[in-house]
Amino acid sequence: MELIFEKSVAGRACDILGACDCDYVDLPQDVLRAQPPKLPELAEVDVTRHYTELCHHVHGVNCGFYPLGSCTMKYNPRIDEEIAALPGFQRIHPLAPQHAVTGCREVLDLARSYLCKISGMDNMTFQPAAGAHGEFTGVLLIKQYHDSRGDTARTKIIVPDSAHGTNPATAAMCGYEVVNIPSAPDGCVDLDALANALGDDTAGLMLTNPNTVGLFDQNILKITAMVHEAGGLCYYDGANLNAVMGVVRPGDMGFDCIHMNLHKTFATPHGGGGPGACAVGCKEFLSEFLPKSALMDEAGHLQVRSFAGNFLVVVRALTYLMSMGREGIPEAAHNAVLNANYLMRRIQGTFEPAFDRICMHEFVLDLSEFKKETGVSALDVAKSLIDYGMHPPTMYFPMIVHEALMLEPTETESKETLDWAAGVFAELYELGKTNPAVMHEAPHHAQIGRPDEVRASRTPVLRWYPQEEGSAAL
Ligand SMILES: *Cc1c(COP(=O)(O)O)cnc(C)c1O
Repeated sequence: MELIFEKSVAGRACDILGACDCDYVDLPQDVLRAQPPKLPELAEVDVTRHYTELCHHVHGVNCGFYPLGSCTMKYNPRIDEEIAALPGFQRIHPLAPQHAVTGCREVLDLARSYLCKISGMDNMTFQPAAGAHGEFTGVLLIKQYHDSRGDTARTKIIVPDSAHGTNPATAAMCGYEVVNIPSAPDGCVDLDALANALGDDTAGLMLTNPNTVGLFDQNILKITAMVHEAGGLCYYDGANLNAVMGVVRPGDMGFDCIHMNLHKTFATPHGGGGPGACAVGCKEFLSEFLPKSALMDEAGHLQVRSFAGNFLVVVRALTYLMSMGREGIPEAAHNAVLNANYLMRRIQGTFEPAFDRICMHEFVLDLSEFKKETGVSALDVAKSLIDYGMHPPTMYFPMIVHEALMLEPTETESKETLDWAAGVFAELYELGKTNPAVMHEAPHHAQIGRPDEVRASRTPVLRWYPQEEGSAAL
């Protein structure tokens, strides 16, 4: 389809802005443009159709099943959007005087108290804009704690090999040496490997539980005790909290600080770049290191983002928490686990789970045998799902499983949808055996089939240059 710039017709416009009622200010010549910006000129109907057409070219959770493992792509109730759209929340200014935003302060305080209860933490900041940003904040808390005690010899953060890539990246960005420890054959932390890695130089451990293969580590109390024994702190990556919220608390598992991706677990749509928000919680002894926020009057030294972070995401999270209630939150977790186990067992017998035991909110299929037999890879299956109107699961992650497909159906899918999805997987299993060639070419009905992923990520084309300027589109 054409870009909106290419659809532009000089002089065509939609006249929706009234006359400017502000005084004009004479800016110095050297900051003025030589020419007006080349903005597209279109009628309102053309703009509407353009964006509606774009909408039809993407797959969102409102279009169909979206079992993208580790991302918790759940349906988010419209009430959360409605509340976040209230003018009292949406039209505030971050520099508004405190007395004018008492309602917003109450939202932050309430959300903080609920999320502290759910996580078993004592204090919390909402400043970080995403999970990775929250990890960065949390590990800085750990660093400041050690520094404040003059304990500067702790230079290493331990991360299991099943961890999300953001964990080692965070530790490295905070100046730590990353110590990768292999998982045990059951997919959980290898206690011997952990014991070997621990020492006087351990600053901490980063862990998610349930982990990225969807398994709850039953040695968790032992693990956190071992790290504490060595003088390190324990960081909980809460991206998988959807499996356990209201059921068990990271604080009770022995973790000292955690992040919760509000855009995964607590009702903000995500994918496509945000906005996200991350609650970083900690135990009381780390509270003094939390980022300072203008709105929350927190004492501290860090400032990881302006003001109170992505405030409207917190409004959505609080609406979700209050509409679900004390009973609804654990019920959502239980249903997320039930749905994952149901779908795993329905698919089993064709594509096989990497770990044949009860999973939590997600599970990983191992297609390496299937690939050996048929030549059809996890990528081919993922691409083929697109033709059925299903978003592909997470592929080739975690790295400890080869030819991995990681599915997380979430609690918001019905039994009918799960049965349909199992049927699609069964069909593809048969197709792979009878006509693998057709799967190598999939998808057959998408706008873009198989982009050059490396080139797309290394040299993305993010700007469009008008032809007449002589600089062709890159
Ligand atoms: C999504 C995810 C993250 C990173 O969170 P973002 O909000 O995407 O930055 C970290 N760890 C795990 C296990 C995740 O699933």
